[in-house]
Amino acid sequence: MSNHDWSFQTKLLHNESKVDKGTGAVSVPLHHSSTFHQFDVEEFGKYDYARSGNPTREALEQAIAELEGGARGLAFSSGMAAISTSFLLLSQGDHVLVTEDVYGGTFRIITDVLTRFGIEHTFVDMTDLHQVASEIRPNTKVIYMETPSNPLLKVTDIKGIVNLAKANNCLTFLDNTFLTPELQRPIELGVDVVLHSATKFLAGHSDVLAGLAVVKDEELGNRLYKLQNAFGAVLGAQDAWLVLRGLKTLHVRLKQSQESAEKIAAYLADHPKVEAVYYPGLSYHPGHDTHRYQAKGPGAVLSFKVADFEAVKLLVEHVKLPVFAVSLGAVESILSYPAKMSHAAMPAEEREKRGISDGLLRLSVGLEKAEDLIADFEAAFAKLPAVTVKS
Ligand SMILES: *Cc1c(COP(=O)(O)O)cnc(C)c1O
Repeated sequence: MSNHDWSFQTKLLHNESKVDKGTGAVSVPLHHSSTFHQFDVEEFGKYDYARSGNPTREALEQAIAELEGGARGLAFSSGMAAISTSFLLLSQGDHVLVTEDVYGGTFRIITDVLTRFGIEHTFVDMTDLHQVASEIRPNTKVIYMETPSNPLLKVTDIKGIVNLAKANNCLTFLDNTFLTPELQRPIELGVDVVLHSATKFLAGHSDVLAGLAVVKDEELGNRLYKLQNAFGAVLGAQDAWLVLRGLKTLHVRLKQSQESAEKIAAYLADHPKVEAVYYPGLSYHPGHDTHRYQAKGPGAVLSFKVADFEAVKLLVEHVKLPVFAVSLGAVESILSYPAKMSHAAMPAEEREKRGISDGLLRLSVGLEKAEDLIADFEAAFAKLPAVTVKS
């Protein structure tokens, strides 16, 4: 059996760095070294200075490249560092097409920073291929996707966008944070650069900030590596080690969390005090079929809408199990309020336009028992005023 035949679940544990060649250690050695002695004045070794390369970080970079099926992986100090550095592939005068409900931090770098360097952008509804096609310009160099998107879990047809990009000579970037390669492998669908906030499901324990980029081919890999080294927002060795440790349990964590998310989505969908549930696992979700075609499962993040800010307030005050926090993809369930958290960087008017209303909450389902979470929500919902049935 070659490595190639192993299932994803097995590959999470049996990779290049499974056993340290020097010592036999079964946990990747943590190389806290900023520089490396050169044994030969004429010929330097593989490592010289840790910004350019560190063996612990490299173990993670190799692991994610293999899991995503890409040519090269690169690790950064945060998801935003991975995303921002990837945008440095662009030059003045270039144009980016971006999904309209993009992550708030990505919205900020595109609108506040890239514009100052003469890089233009257009936000589009990526679920509408005709709209995307009509907004492509001669200087469009990147189409930026996030699917399912944050926080409304909208689904983009990855292959459809890749075909449009190829026909127009532009690259595709995809933020795969919500699903991870366990559930969605964009490179297999033709995407050029896959981005991650490894802070979320990949590391999985709310204890580290990290970002990853995986590129499809060597040429692009070399270009992005040069930018990683030039910009310098690399991941520290200790943090790389934490992500590697988290990765080992990705399969079991995501499987359990997804199972619970499916139960909770069904519960919320039936609840009289919930106006809408956004989860690609629900058969009536507009992106359900596309999602089923391109991903292995709906994931463990869902959003739902209650009446208004007052209802949000009461719910957050009374729910006991989920932490109320920014972030997602952890062992503990995390309830967040996009309008004031992930999308606070977006002006209120832009938020409303995108459906990120004042009654919207996002839940990242952790490893608590689903029935406990449901009972917790049930008790908190009881504190909300009864819904008035319109006559
Ligand atoms: C959190 C997040 C990011 C940013 O990652 P950081 O590690 O916080 O810098 C980017 N995209 C998505 C979808 C995220 O959830």
